[in-house]
Amino acid sequence: MPNRKAKLLKQQKGKCPWCGLSFHDWDVIEEDHIIPRAIGGKDEYKNLQLLHRHCHDEKTTLDLKEIRKKDHSKFLEKLSQFWNKFDWEWINDIPTFIGQKVRESDLTNG
Ligand SMILES: [Zn+2]
Repeated sequence: MPNRKAKLLKQQKGKCPWCGLSFHDWDVIEEDHIIPRAIGGKDEYKNLQLLHRHCHDEKTTLDLKEIRKKDHSKFLEKLSQFWNKFDWEWINDIPTFIGQKVRESDLTNG
């Protein structure tokens, strides 16, 4: 969408927010989601920016790290939700179910 690009370019005063340098005719310019869509960023103007291709690559690397971190904390959140469902307490440094009976079939069938 060249219109979108032109508008963003104007909004950024012709500069790449990543490295702070102006875009030149020979630069490859790419659209970037400031907040990656993978972690809830929207496809709208205020979440878009233009970056040099090499700057975009750098940012993507960082974004992926952020996405992985987020996935990791999502995993921990799920894990703690799992533990909250059960009555359990630490016995001899082992989390031990109390109250809720764990059937043997649940354990063997994974
Ligand atoms: Zn740049």
